[in-house]
Amino acid sequence: MQKISRNVYAENSFRGCNPGFVVTSEGVVMIDTPQMPADAIWWRDEIAKQGPVRYLINTEPHGDHFAGNYFFEGTVVAHQGTREAILAASVEQFKERLKQSDPDSLPLVKNYSYRPPAITFSEQMTLYVGNHTFQLINLPGHTPYQIAVYIPEERVVFTSDNVFCRVQAWLHEALPHKWLDSLRRLEQLEADVLVPGHGSICDPSYIREMGAFIQDWIDAVSGAIGQGMSLEEAQEKISFLDRYPMEPGSEPMAQFVQYMNVARLYQVLKK
Ligand SMILES: [Zn+2]
Repeated sequence: MQKISRNVYAENSFRGCNPGFVVTSEGVVMIDTPQMPADAIWWRDEIAKQGPVRYLINTEPHGDHFAGNYFFEGTVVAHQGTREAILAASVEQFKERLKQSDPDSLPLVKNYSYRPPAITFSEQMTLYVGNHTFQLINLPGHTPYQIAVYIPEERVVFTSDNVFCRVQAWLHEALPHKWLDSLRRLEQLEADVLVPGHGSICDPSYIREMGAFIQDWIDAVSGAIGQGMSLEEAQEKISFLDRYPMEPGSEPMAQFVQYMNVARLYQVLKK
């Protein structure tokens, strides 16, 4: 657990996303939850030392950000699209994946259920808790429902998966051009610290490198389409695996992620 500003903590060594929390004068506000049950329980005990959880913000519709909600108190807040994804998610599939990745944790999820948001929004909302302001801003990119959480008093922004800091990015549901626009909006926030969805905690100077990566992906797939390649040919030819490592633990999915990224961009850019 890293203390990244006066009242903000984040963790980037869990399997799954980088969750964080803010200690306000009226309780704790969490941003995303650990995916693995044992991590979630450890995280819950650490947070309990700082006060009760008032709100829990989910920044996107993928399970590595919301699967841990079950282990926490607090009112869940997210984009409307994230709520719909959580309602549609299968508990059985979640348990099946755990059986593969961490069978010892199965007893911890005996009565497991997803905890969907009670409060949703679609463009922007602001939460005031104690002395802190939480600006929740829909920034489509990695998915249409991506949100950033900006805490001006701490000069911190949680970018969710619009930023993968020096690890491979997942583009399987991406809106690539909107993603570039969203990165430009992130650059305008007055922040000193960026908590990316995955990878190491960084600062706003990394946003350009992230944008260059997305632009290179767009250029590679548009180029392949322009040369008349089929999807399969593009998937054979295009790989950015030499650019960044996979996150620890997800190395076996490296090639699969490249294929999915090409497939998504091919579908979006062919139109
Ligand atoms: Zn994601």
